Parts: sequence; structure tokens; C-alpha cells
Amino acid sequence: MTSLTWICLMTKRTTKIDPLAYPVRKELWRRITIIVLAAILAGSLYVRAVRAQAGVISASAQYTFGEEIVFRGVIPTGIPVESATLFFVAEGELQTHTGAATWDERGQLLYIADLTQSPIRAFSTVVYWFEVTKKGGGELKSERGAFYYEDNRFDWQARESKDFRVHWYEGDTAFAQSLLDVAELGLANIQVILPLKLNSPVDIYAYASAEEMRATLQHLGKSWVGAHTDPDLGVMVVSLPRGPEQRLEMERQIPHELMHLMLYQRLGAGYGNIPIWLNEGLASIAELYPNPDYLILLNKAVKEDNMLPMASLCETFPRDASGAFLAYAEATSFTRFLYQQYGTAGLESLARAYADGLSCERGVQIALDRTLTQLERQWRQQAFREDALLTALTNLSPWIVILALVLIFPLGLTLVGTRKNAKNGRDG
Ligand SMILES: [Zn+2]
Repeated sequence: MTSLTWICLMTKRTTKIDPLAYPVRKELWRRITIIVLAAILAGSLYVRAVRAQAGVISASAQYTFGEEIVFRGVIPTGIPVESATLFFVAEGELQTHTGAATWDERGQLLYIADLTQSPIRAFSTVVYWFEVTKKGGGELKSERGAFYYEDNRFDWQARESKDFRVHWYEGDTAFAQSLLDVAELGLANIQVILPLKLNSPVDIYAYASAEEMRATLQHLGKSWVGAHTDPDLGVMVVSLPRGPEQRLEMERQIPHELMHLMLYQRLGAGYGNIPIWLNEGLASIAELYPNPDYLILLNKAVKEDNMLPMASLCETFPRDASGAFLAYAEATSFTRFLYQQYGTAGLESLARAYADGLSCERGVQIALDRTLTQLERQWRQQAFREDALLTALTNLSPWIVILALVLIFPLGLTLVGTRKNAKNGRDG
């Protein structure tokens, strides 16, 4: 495909923050952390840290993005240590990572987390603390520290409007302003399709290449993704290389990711139950500049009879890049068809039906009073002028052959038998 080959990959994330490990309201917590970080660590390009002072043990963390986090602690001298453990949990993750920390005679605790082995989500807030068991019994804990796991490989600049904060490292202020403008246009376009509101400002990180961006997707392990949103973090990452297509890419990626994010804000936990074809379909029809490759791809797939059934795109998309592309193209075309047929109200009740927990098949039946198969047939007839009878016959063709064999073969035998009998009769 051409350079227009970015794909956004949504994970069906429904995990919640452990309230014990993460007691303060997420957004507020993150903003506080950002301010603390910015104040303490301005000017540090590769490593940023935040220190949590505790009455008994102090703890601090430094990270090298995508590689490791070094956690350090200090125990008051004279306390004999039996064992020491470091705990950390990234925002939105249910799993608390733990590791045995080392200590020395000066009471210095150390634990290094290998992020190449256990990646955490970029742009999440990480909470951590030490627990120490004393020789002879008794425990000490550090206070909980936190840091914002931003991609600090780059010297980000920032610019903001009422609804968006853009972060970029390559390009001028005009580029940053165009990111903000496209975000506002995308927001307006989304609100034509669905009555959604933006509840909190969105952070947009614009990378200068897909390669540089992909390090932020370490935890997903996908090599063909071009943009991504973690809607629960209120963050989107996009890849916008310099060149004649930069503006078009912007007009695709930002509104697309924004639709995911706003759907999440509207549907909450129910967001995870939306079929992937609808989630990606809605995001794709929100793009200001539709992907022209999709139509070519679809016509080819129809011609070669390679279309993926919509029912196979409820839970997951194909893992390979070409299969995933076709899935995106189908989801986009099918969702656009639903929008044309049923309008905003139809799409809204469909999204709501799914968010309420209905299955992929049941959702369309309740919201649109049609089965998925009926809608799919109607879509293909309308979008690709497929002849319904021909399609039905093509689908039935193996059965027609068998039926023909079952009916015609005995009929032939009977005819041959009749002739033989007639001939024998004449001969006899
Ligand atoms: Zn997407």
C-alpha cells in the first residue's frame, strides 16, 4: 500500500485501577504528578525522577524509557534487614509488580525493573513503594511515590487549547497549531456523527516517525500500528512524518483516535463490549480525510470473494497487516452504511446496546431490528452492487452440485435401466 498505511489498534481494555494501590482520583493525581515532575526535573532529557519522603524509609525512582526503572530507598541506619521488596503498579493495570530488593550496610535499597521484559504503558502514572521486614520481626513501609511515565527520549514542546494539549518535538509552532486546529475540526466532525462530549482535555503526542512512536506500544507488541489511544489515560499518540501527506495523516489519525477516546468517556466500562468492527468503524468514519485505499481493497476482495464475514470481526481483527487492513476497510464501509441507513440515533442506540452488554449479534437485532447477516447482505448489495440471487447461488454452489449428483445420478441410472429393460423386452 502507499504511505497511507497507518492503522490504529484498539485494545479492549476494561481494567480498573486498584483503589487501594491508587487512592486519589486519577486525573487529578496525574496532573499533580506532572506538575511535580515538571518542577523538579525540568531540563533532564533522559531520566526523570520523583522522590517520596517517608517518615521511616525514603523512596525514589528514575527511568530510562522502554528500558528500565531504577528504584532506590534509604532505611534509617541501625535497622537490621531480613528482606526488602519493591512494589509498583502502572495506571489502569490490575497487576502489581513485585521484586526482591537488595540493600547494603548503609541502608541503601535498590531494585531495577527490566522494562524490556515487562513493559508498562507509556504515559501512565506509576505508583511504587518499598516494604522491609526487620530481623526478629516487624515491618517498615515507605510512603507511596509516583511518576508519570512519559516518553522522555524527546525534548517535547507543548501547546494547548481549551480541549487539547499537543506535544511535539519536530516542527515549528505553526505545526503545533495545525495539530490543535485538526483536533478541533475532528471534535466537531465527531459531534455530527454522535452526540458525544469531551469530559477532560486530551493529550496528543505527535511523533515524527512511526518507528519512534512504536516504542510507546512496547506492551502491545505490534509492528504495524501507526497511531494509538489509551482512552482511559486520555492520551493519544500519532505518527506524522514530514512530507506532503503530513496534513492528510493528521486529518485521519487525530479524529480517529479522538472518537475512540470520546466513546470511552461516554460509555465507561461498557466501552470494552463494543464489537471491534463498530469501534474501529466509528473511529474511521470520523476521519476528516477518508482512506482512499480502502475502496480499492474492498473492490478487490469482493471480486476475489475474499471478504471477511462481519461476524468474524466482533471480537478481534486478523493479526497480520493485510488481513487487518481489509478488516478496517470493511468495518469502515459497513459502519458508514449503518450511519447512512439509521443516522445518528441508530448508531447511538447500537453503541448503547453493546455497552449494556448485548452480544455482537443481539445488539444489532435490538437496536436496528435486523440480523447481522441481513445488514451485511444489504450493505454488500448497496456498496458493491452485489446481486443477491447470484451471491446466494454462489454461496450455495457446493450444495447445488451435491444435490445435482444426488438427484441426477439415480435418475440417469433409472433411465439406463428402463432402456435396457425395453431393449430386453424387444429382444425377448
Ligand atoms: Zn482505531
